[in-house]
Amino acid sequence: NEISYVMVKPDGVQRGLVGEIIGRFERKGFKLRALKLYSTPKEVAEEHYKDLSSKPFYKDLVQYILSGPVVAMVWEGDGVVASARKLIGATNPLASEPGTIRGDLAIEVGRNVIHGSDSPDNGERETALWFPEGLV
Ligand code: ATP
Ligand code: MG
Repeated sequence: NEISYVMVKPDGVQRGLVGEIIGRFERKGFKLRALKLYSTPKEVAEEHYKDLSSKPFYKDLVQYILSGPVVAMVWEGDGVVASARKLIGATNPLASEPGTIRGDLAIEVGRNVIHGSDSPDNGERETALWFPEGLV
């Protein structure tokens, strides 16, 4: 079954947006498979964003993800990866459509509240990285 790794980033946790964000996924109808408040190890943050390691913003990105606890989640369902990306909205919140999480709740690309896997393969890979203990 398809799964997506979804994460409320530290700004979303600090701003008290966890319930709002989880509620949107619950109301959509996907199945929650794992959930934890997590103080991210540096190696996990670096591995998660390793494809972006050549980008000029990579260091700031890792620092941002380490700036406080995240809420790490796995959601399951047919088409969940693409659907979660639609619920989340475009990477730059100023370009995200109203009605999406980033479109409604964020203004900065470097503080864009939430992550969602970009392919089913990465959904599996990221779930194994963030939940090595396995799913419920
Ligand atoms: P995510 O992987 O977090 O769901 P995304 O898939 O929409 O976001 P990516 O291209 O994978 O976007 O970039 C990962 C993250 O890197 C973005 O969510 C954002 O926080 C940060 N980022 C991307 N582009 C920039 C940029 N130009 N300046 C600063 N940060 C950026
Ligand atoms: Mg991405």
